[in-house]
Amino acid sequence: MTLVKDIKKFRTLPVRGLDRQLLWQLNQLFPNLLVSIEDLNIKPGDGLFPYVQPSVKKALEIFLKDYGKPLTINSAYRSVVAQTVLYNNRGSNLVGNPGESDHQNGVSLDIEEWTDVKDLMKKQGWKWTYGDQGKSDVWHFDWHRHEMPDIKEDTVKAFQILWNTANPELEQLVVDGIVGNPDVSKTLKCINNSPAEGFPNVGYPRTLKLTEPIQQGKDVGELQLTLKKAGIKLEKADQVFDLGTDQAVKEFQRSHSLTIDGIVSAEGETRQALKLAIA
Ligand SMILES: [Zn+2]
Repeated sequence: MTLVKDIKKFRTLPVRGLDRQLLWQLNQLFPNLLVSIEDLNIKPGDGLFPYVQPSVKKALEIFLKDYGKPLTINSAYRSVVAQTVLYNNRGSNLVGNPGESDHQNGVSLDIEEWTDVKDLMKKQGWKWTYGDQGKSDVWHFDWHRHEMPDIKEDTVKAFQILWNTANPELEQLVVDGIVGNPDVSKTLKCINNSPAEGFPNVGYPRTLKLTEPIQQGKDVGELQLTLKKAGIKLEKADQVFDLGTDQAVKEFQRSHSLTIDGIVSAEGETRQALKLAIA
C-alpha cells in the first residue's frame, strides 16, 4: 500500500484511485457538481483528471467549436489529494495550499497551446491569469473565476467524510470543508496517511455494463429497479446484467441526451442522471 505522503513525484497520476473514490463521494453529496470533458475534442495530457464544473464545460465546448482543432489540456479539476501531492513535492514550483487552489474549484484549465488560443479565449470570456498577483503559469486559464460557485469546501468535505467512513476506529475528522494551515492541519495529516489507490474497505460501486462473463449481483438489481422507477421498460429485475438491461440503460441514456454506451460507472453522468431522475 502506497500512502499519499510516500509519493515523491510532482505528478497527480499516482493518486488516481483515491481521486476516483473521492469524486464518487463528492457526487453522493452533491450530484453533478463536476462533469467529465472526455467527450469533447481534447487531447488529454498525461495525468489529466478530466472534470470541470458544468458551465465551464459548456464554455469549453463553445470555444472548441470556434477553435476547430483538438486542444491539449494538461490539468483541469484537481482533488484536494492531488493538490497535496503537488504541494508535498513543490520544490521551486508555485503550488497553492491543499484546499485552496483554483484547480480544486473545477474552473481552471492548463492548456498546452496557450499562445495559440490566448486571444480567442480572452474574447470568449476566459481569464488568462498570467501576471495576476504574481502568477507565472502562462498556460493557466480560468472561466469567470470569481463569479463561479466555490466548490472547494465541498470537495474537502467529501474527503473528510470518506476518511471518517474508512477509519471508524480512529479519531474522526470534523466535516467542515477546511484544510487550514498545512503545518498543523489534521485533515492534511489524514490525506497524507491515505492509500493512493483508495481505501479498500469503502463501498465503491463497480462499473456496470454488458460483459463476458455477465455481471450479477445486488448492485445490478438496484440499477434495474432504478431504471424501472425512472420509467424505462425492463422485463425483469433479476440482478443479471443481460442484453435487456443493456438496452434499458441505452434507452435511458437516449432519453436523457447522454452518451449512449450502456455503461454505468461509479462517477459517470448516467449514474448521476439516474439519481436525479428518481429524486
Ligand atoms: Zn493551472
